[in-house]
Amino acid sequence: MKRIYTAANLPDAHLVRNMLEQAGIPAHIFNANAIGALGDLPMSAAYPQVWISQVHQEQHARAVVAEYSRASVPSEAKSCGTCSESSPGEFELCWNCGGELPVHS
Ligand SMILES: [Zn+2]
Repeated sequence: MKRIYTAANLPDAHLVRNMLEQAGIPAHIFNANAIGALGDLPMSAAYPQVWISQVHQEQHARAVVAEYSRASVPSEAKSCGTCSESSPGEFELCWNCGGELPVHS
């Protein structure tokens, strides 16, 4: 068994597990019921965790998780190639000079 992901909440953990299983990687959620019954546990120990059962699939699993994280995290600020101002990641044009911003890969 290998922990591959610590989720912020249970729906998050289920999404990751579903993505892993669709990729052919058997996965399990631990700590599914821990939130709300924390007791003395440090918070970080109580988040739902996604574990894979086949350690040799770790690399593949991490790629799946990375793909998930990239899709769900707000895009980073982009800096304008013309005036060097930074704009929010969802902008296509620089707010300052109107120049085209680089597209995230
Ligand atoms: Zn600009």
